[in-house]
Amino acid sequence: MTTAPIDPVCGKPVVVTDQTLTTDCAGEIYHFCSRACLEKFVCCPGKRLDEYLFDLIIVGGGPAGISAGIYASLTGIDTLFLTRSIGGQAWDSTSIVNFPGFDFITGPELVDRFRQQLFDSLHLNHQICGVTAIEKTGRVFWVKTEKGDRYRSRSLLLVTGMKRRRLGVPGEERLRGKGVMDFHALSADRYRDRDVAVVGGGNSAAQAALGLADEGARVTLVTRSYRADNYLKEKLAATEGVMVLRNRDPLRIEGESRVEVLVVRNQDTGDEEVLPVEAVFVEVGLIPNSDLVRELVLINERGEVEVDRNCRTGVPGLYAAGDVTNTFGKRILIAAGEGAKAVLAIEEYLKKSS
Ligand SMILES: Cc1cc2nc3c(=O)[nH]c(=O)nc-3n(C[C@H](O)[C@H](O)[C@H](O)COP(=O)(O)OP(=O)(O)OC[C@H]3O[C@@H](n4cnc5c(N)ncnc54)[C@H](O)[C@@H]3O)c2cc1C
Repeated sequence: MTTAPIDPVCGKPVVVTDQTLTTDCAGEIYHFCSRACLEKFVCCPGKRLDEYLFDLIIVGGGPAGISAGIYASLTGIDTLFLTRSIGGQAWDSTSIVNFPGFDFITGPELVDRFRQQLFDSLHLNHQICGVTAIEKTGRVFWVKTEKGDRYRSRSLLLVTGMKRRRLGVPGEERLRGKGVMDFHALSADRYRDRDVAVVGGGNSAAQAALGLADEGARVTLVTRSYRADNYLKEKLAATEGVMVLRNRDPLRIEGESRVEVLVVRNQDTGDEEVLPVEAVFVEVGLIPNSDLVRELVLINERGEVEVDRNCRTGVPGLYAAGDVTNTFGKRILIAAGEGAKAVLAIEEYLKKSS
């Protein structure tokens, strides 16, 4: 098996196609994941990102991080963008109907446009990897990654969003990956003609149920309280192959080596009900990814980073935006707007502190 060449700037493996960006340096061919990396290599060959003192490091690549990256590029702030994935939760949306400019777009399509704008048009420095620690020494932020690299900057924007909450019932952990799944729009077609359950009553559960039904699965949506937006409820009611069970508490997931049944309690009758299903998608809410700054800033009882209206935390130079914060409204557009606003505020901070 041949291994993919590694981008010498960001360290990402590159899938080589006719369109792959390459350059010849001293007789050796280098491959790049994006124009951003090619340009960096051409202007400073051999120089690594960990040798810079950046003006700004952005941690997180969901809608908040991406729009922050766009604003940082356009305002000329010397920025490094570090993220575990591009698109964040928006990637999992099967049908986005509330983003200006699009009557309808799927999460993966929108995220692909974000990615192209950021890396191919705006050439932002980036690394696709998780951040494991953030520290501040004097006026400099130090950011450590899963690969063991350390980067430095004068300001930092935390846009790490949220991760899925677990259900916490017997069988869930044992059968995780063996039928107990997180929903991902791109793999919904694997469940065609199968009986599956989605547990949760909010927008992400409703979207997962719709995405699975659109791909031909027979879906039971199991809800304790049905809180999804009305437009999604109406869509679900009109979709063939979806049954909504309200007022049900999930009790346990059973199966030898894979999920076979989900057992729930009917809150109205107190009866246990057994749902034969091949997969259980857990969509019961989200928890902010705020652990990285737990020792540095104020975190509220929901686990959100407390920020003021300019996205400032209590630590000079440390900003946060999007779903990881206490800002009202967990939506793509709101996160994107907050990410952009944070960069405008950071620009002012950098001017004043230089
Ligand atoms: C299934 C689903 C469907 C949705 N549908 C819609 C919709 O139709 N319309 C709408 O407006 N909103 C929708 N939302 C909500 C919307 O997606 C979020 O509000 C939005 O994505 C929040 O953006 P964010 O950038 O703040 O965080 P996130 O999208 O959560 O992105 C966080 C980013 O940070 C990265 N990250 C986290 N921890 C680390 C770390 N330690 N190191 C490096 N990187 C890290 C993640 O990899 C990710 O890229 C949906 C959410 C879900 C789950």
